[in-house]
Amino acid sequence: MNTYSIGIDIGGTNTDIGLVRDDGRCMAKKNLPTNKYYDASVYVSDICDKIKDLIGENEVTAIDGIGIAAPAGNFYTGCIENATNLNFKGVIDLAALFHDHLNVPVVVSNDANAAAYGELVYGGAKGMKHFVMFTLGTGVGSGIVVDGKLVHGKTGGAGELGHAILIPEGRPCGCGRKGCLETYTSATGIRRTALEMMEAIPDYDGTLRKVDPKELTSKMVGDAAKYGDPLAIKVFEKTGYWLGIALANAVAFSGPEAIFLMGGPVKAGEVLLKPTRESFKKHLCFVYDGSVDIRVSELPDNDAAILGAAALTKAK
Ligand SMILES: [Zn+2]
Repeated sequence: MNTYSIGIDIGGTNTDIGLVRDDGRCMAKKNLPTNKYYDASVYVSDICDKIKDLIGENEVTAIDGIGIAAPAGNFYTGCIENATNLNFKGVIDLAALFHDHLNVPVVVSNDANAAAYGELVYGGAKGMKHFVMFTLGTGVGSGIVVDGKLVHGKTGGAGELGHAILIPEGRPCGCGRKGCLETYTSATGIRRTALEMMEAIPDYDGTLRKVDPKELTSKMVGDAAKYGDPLAIKVFEKTGYWLGIALANAVAFSGPEAIFLMGGPVKAGEVLLKPTRESFKKHLCFVYDGSVDIRVSELPDNDAAILGAAALTKAK
């Protein structure tokens, strides 16, 4: 008999709620506008109504638990702690609020950790004991799995390799420091690299030049690169170069058997992956030669965040 869990992905704008079967299939989904809520208890109460609907509509008799991927979600405390992109300020005891409505285990973590766990339970990392997940989006997140367990660290904040400094005194980062990896290899960073290159190469008259700089996105740069735009290709070569260094450093840190990549910029495919692998090979300490695969996440795009959150219910 199949068992079921609930995965909840809390984003700044939307909250997605999914019913996930133990074989990794998302059976049904609902969503709520996160940014319309200012009272966390009303927000959680509305989510719980959606969960009850999902359970009723799909004739599921019981769920094993609820996994929640939230900005600044703390695995140890079950709280959201001072998230910068949510209306809920300060420390919100999410797990306790859910327990007021539903009597099942509730596990909270951040979205990069959830992505790593999703890969482990439902994706390409099944059966692996040591791997690192990098999520490239508006920022760069990472989740580190060692001996089959997520690394949470002393405070629950381990695995923020997006804020490891890649270039001292480099680009300013939202964390208040300069030169963090995410300012170079996130979607935002790729956009910035493209704008900088266009300024440095005034002769460039390709497709990206025709886009209003305010409207330029990393997806546009990725699409242009796939169609052979020389500047866009250079942007991805540079991004891959930077990312390869970060991945080589991650290997020296935790000795994984694979590194998984996920997120919008990864969809650019080989234009990003080829320079990333080359830079990775160049910068990897020789003792790890041939021991690590760089792979793309095998979770289905549309349900990856929900599957990751649901997988947290299996976290050890
Ligand atoms: Zn930073």
